[in-house]
Formats: sequence, structure tokens, C-alpha cells
Amino acid sequence: MSELTRMTAAQLAGLIADGSTSAIEVTRAHLDRITGVDERVHAYLHVDGEGALAAAQAVDAARAAGQPLGPLAGVPIAVKDVVTTKGVPTTAGSKILDGWRPPYDATIVARLRAAGMPILGKTNMDEFAMGSSTEYSAYGPTYNPWDLTRIPGGSGGGSAAAIAAYTAPLAIGTDTGGSIRQPGAVTGTVGAKPTYGGTSRYGLIAFSSSLDTPGPCARTVLDAALLHEAIAGHDPRDSTSIPAAVPPVVEAARAGASGDLTGVRLGLVTQFATGDGVEPGVQAAFRDAVDALTKLGAEVVEVSCPHFGYALPAYYLIAPSECSSNLARYDGVRYGLRSGDDGNRSLEEVMSLTRDQGIGPEVKRRIMLGTYALSSGYYDAYYGQAQKVRTLITRDFTAAFEQVDVLISPTTPFVAFPLGARTADPYQMYLADLFTIPTNLYGGPAISVPCGLADGLPVGLQVMAPTMADDRMYRVAAALESAVGTLTPPELSAATR
Ligand code: GLN
Repeated sequence: MSELTRMTAAQLAGLIADGSTSAIEVTRAHLDRITGVDERVHAYLHVDGEGALAAAQAVDAARAAGQPLGPLAGVPIAVKDVVTTKGVPTTAGSKILDGWRPPYDATIVARLRAAGMPILGKTNMDEFAMGSSTEYSAYGPTYNPWDLTRIPGGSGGGSAAAIAAYTAPLAIGTDTGGSIRQPGAVTGTVGAKPTYGGTSRYGLIAFSSSLDTPGPCARTVLDAALLHEAIAGHDPRDSTSIPAAVPPVVEAARAGASGDLTGVRLGLVTQFATGDGVEPGVQAAFRDAVDALTKLGAEVVEVSCPHFGYALPAYYLIAPSECSSNLARYDGVRYGLRSGDDGNRSLEEVMSLTRDQGIGPEVKRRIMLGTYALSSGYYDAYYGQAQKVRTLITRDFTAAFEQVDVLISPTTPFVAFPLGARTADPYQMYLADLFTIPTNLYGGPAISVPCGLADGLPVGLQVMAPTMADDRMYRVAAALESAVGTLTPPELSAATR
């Protein structure tokens, strides 16, 4: 494996800027690595070698002409397949979008291009970002580089696995209930969900519009912050985008790396610290990480968030409700798959056949749940009630942040589980996001950072901060990283899954 694929994005950017290597060499190294190992990992649904090399060439030409380069110029990146890329296949992991080439770029993709970042390809994911293991992709699962018999998390398992397998130094994910942080935790990588509205949703294939948040996947906290800064900031094309300056996340990540947390108050969420169903290995790694944070000078206090226990049920009413509305547009008429259009069937029959064949069982389940929760006579009892719970959870966060600077918890209750272990019972799959969902309902930022191993598999620690205080979580995450280090997966051996 080329040494270039082992480097962090910050290192690569430095080497490209000073001419020690070129954007073309770096991009080629990653494309070669994809050719070498992605058959086993299956992080990518589509690789765009030509497009990536052309973008790299443009960066090298700009450098040769003495033009100023951005902080990540020439550093290649993988993009979750739920984000539109002009002319490049975008399926959201669904058969119903098979063959669709979007006519436009998402705002965050446009920003990656403007930053001179070659896009290596599109990464695998649970269909329409619904799932926690990437097993619900219509194109087959992704395998965890730490152990190819285990899941890489989801829905953004492809992005996290690409980072862990060194087939990309950076990736874009989206987080509606944990889909950046949970895959980060179980692959030993860093995943950050920015404040809702801090990164543009324009060009994301919508799942649950009041929750969907794109953000960075990386191997280090600084790399995540650099990518965060490259994609964040107000976008007039997204009505919920926040018209304010991006919090100084890169500065915070650099400050945190000094390992000094004197005076920082960390809140341990009582309801999560000892929660039932949290694997002992996860609890042990988390406790060690809390000790490490204390040694860095942080003060750790317990904070009660009494309504967090209702977050999961509230989420599984709000997210499906919004999805049932958002997914109504997949009708087989305007884009993607069309089934049974033989000239003899009615429009309704073609729509129905297309949806039946184009949409997988988990997504169908969510559409039905959501349609039910919104239906007349049930709306108040389900959707309305869930919205009230959302308010109570937001109040828990607000009250907690009056006492502490950030909240911490394990990112997930369990480490990467074997493929197939949780597909029979949807609730078992939903539990993967027990600790990540409250933040989505509140809208604040949260990051997962590796904090150790349990039975040889990565464990993540989650740092949650107040809305638009994304810099705070980067500081704490970087400090933890300076104490516990980054995690390196075993070399992908020839032994297959
Ligand atoms: N796993 C959660 C779900 O299935 C979260 C998904 C996400 O964040 N996109 O809905």
C-alpha cells in the first residue's frame, strides 16, 4: 500500500502545497488502493477515477501557475451516495434510483469542488439512509475493515469503511439519527454531526428534513474539522441553513490537541452512563476515557436528562412521518426505475409496481409507519405526541448546558456486530442509535471519537455541544485523541470474509 494512503488529510495537504507530492499522485494512490481492496470491503457503489484525476490535474495546474490553494486542495474524498453529484450516479442505496445521474451538485459537493478536492466516488449506505448496518443497501452490504464478518455501522457504513480501509482520507456522511457517528464509532474513525442548519441540505436526497445533517468522516479530529470548515456555512438554497459565521472548529481542534482541558466541565449523562444493554467492554473503554479526560484537567459531573429515554420512540415517529412525505416523489415517472410500463398498464399500476420492486422492506416499513402516524385520527396521538417529546428533550439539553460545557456518552451501546445479527428484529437494529438520536432531535452538534477497544473492536466516545458551539466538541474530542491516540485496524489480509 502506498504510504500516501496512510497519511492524514492535513499531512497530504501539506505535502501537496509544498510540492513534495502532487494531487495526481495522491489521487492515484487512493484509486489503486480501491482497486486493491474494495472488492472485499465494498465501501464504494461507484468509483469516478476519471473525474477525480481531472480534478487533481486542475489543482496541480493551479499550483504550478502560482495560484493560491485552499487548505484541503488536492486531498481526495469519498461522498455518501445520498448526496447529489452532477452527472455521477446517485442511488441513495436504492434500486428505485438505479441509473439516475443528477443534473446538479449538492451545495456541499460544489464546495468540495471549489476547495479543489477530487471526488473518488460514491459510498455505500442503507437504502435512503434508513438503517444502522449498511445491510439494507439494495447493492449488498459493506464489510467492516476491522473484521470483514462484521457490519461497518450505518447508514453511512461505506463512508466510514472507506476511511478505515485507507481507500479515502476523508468522506462525507449524513446524520439523521446517528449515521455519521455510529459508523465512526464501530470502525474506529471520527465522525461529526454539525449543528443542524450549519451545513446545507441542498442536494441531499431527503429522508427526514428536520433532522438530516451532512458532515465529515475522517481518521483524525483535525481532519474532520478541516472538512467541516470546507463544507459548512450559510446557503441561501436551504431555508433552514443558519445565516451565521461557521464556529472556529479548526482552531478548536488545534487547541484541543495540546491536551489541556483545565476548566472544561463535562456532563456525564446519567441515563446513558450505565444504561441497560450497554456492553461491558464498551462501558469499560468509556470509563477509561473519562479517566483520561479527567487527567487532562476536565471536571466531570453527572447530569440528568430525564427525557432522553423517550428519544428513540419519538424519533421513530418523527423520522418515518417525514420520510413518508419525502419519499412520495419516487413514482417511477420522473427518474430512476420504472417497472411494468408495457403500454397496457395504467399509471397507478406502473407506480405501484415500480415502488413494490424498487423499494426495500425497511423503507416500506418506515413509509407505512409514517403514513399511519400522520393519518387523521392518529396524528395527535403519535406525531403530535412525538413533537412534544422533542421539545422536552430540547429542554433537557438546554438545562444541561447551563451546568456543563458539553455532554459525553458512549457513542453506541455495542461494538460492531456480525452481519445478520440484528436484521430479524427491527428494534434490535434501532437500538444502535440509542445515544445518538437525542442530539438530532435537539439540533446540536455531536462528534464520535475513538476511545479504545473492546474485544479488539473499536469503541467511540460521543461529545455533544450546544447549537452552534461545534468548536467546543472539537476541542474536547481533540484532547481525548491526544491522550488515547488514533486506532489502526489490522491490515486487510488476503483472507476474505
Ligand atoms: N439508524 C437510524 C435510522 O435508521 C439513523 C439513520 C441516519 O442517521 N440516517 O433511521
